[in-house]
Amino acid sequence: MSLKRCVLLIAAPGSGKSTIAKRIERIYKLTHICSGDLFRAHIANGTDLGKQVEKIMSDGNLVDDDLTMQVLGDSLSKINLKEYDGVLLDGIPRTLNQVELFERQWSAPNLVINVDVPFTEIVNRLSNRLTHLPSGRVYNMDFDPPEVPGIDDVTGEKLQLRSDDKPEAVSNRLDNYELITQPILKHYKDRQLLKVFSGTETNVIWPEIDLFLKKHFKIA
Ligand code: AMP
Repeated sequence: MSLKRCVLLIAAPGSGKSTIAKRIERIYKLTHICSGDLFRAHIANGTDLGKQVEKIMSDGNLVDDDLTMQVLGDSLSKINLKEYDGVLLDGIPRTLNQVELFERQWSAPNLVINVDVPFTEIVNRLSNRLTHLPSGRVYNMDFDPPEVPGIDDVTGEKLQLRSDDKPEAVSNRLDNYELITQPILKHYKDRQLLKVFSGTETNVIWPEIDLFLKKHFKIA
């Protein structure tokens, strides 16, 4: 099956990618699919798959490629692609093998966006981040706090520091990102699909992405 419009968002954990993804989803009518959220929902719902990936994730390691593609396939098959202009994949593919599996089963992306934030900034941000685990909603205690400290604004449920946001797991995740994701960036750069946006603040990076997408999709 091929996807009408497929945009990949590649960014290190904690680089503001979920905020940027939500804006792209809303403005450009792309269904946002975040692989990390799919796994976290399995864990929160206590599924067998959730039990299988829980330790891998809390150690900051990558889930096996076949299992990852299976979770993505389940999610893509549930969405009504006719209602949307396409998909925005966030956090996936993350290995060259996933690139190949995805393109074989679905389609090549039309565009790959890389948000490039310095790692020192990311470590600082993640240690201040609290998450509503069932939904993946995130808050930052410094610049985007919940209305009531420690409580999700929407459900009133408790927020938590994700086990993989703890400093030792963060440095493992950033090492993994550097080692495993960089070849993917090179792959898409070589195919002239990659557009890199660098900076430290999401609200500065976002208008550049927005302008670029407007031009790319020829939206007035
Ligand atoms: P994220 O929220 O994107 O940082 O993802 C959290 C965790 O989910 C990662 O550290 C991995 O353990 C797992 N994960 C998410 N996406 C993938 C993927 N494409 N391939 C393998 N593991 C993934």
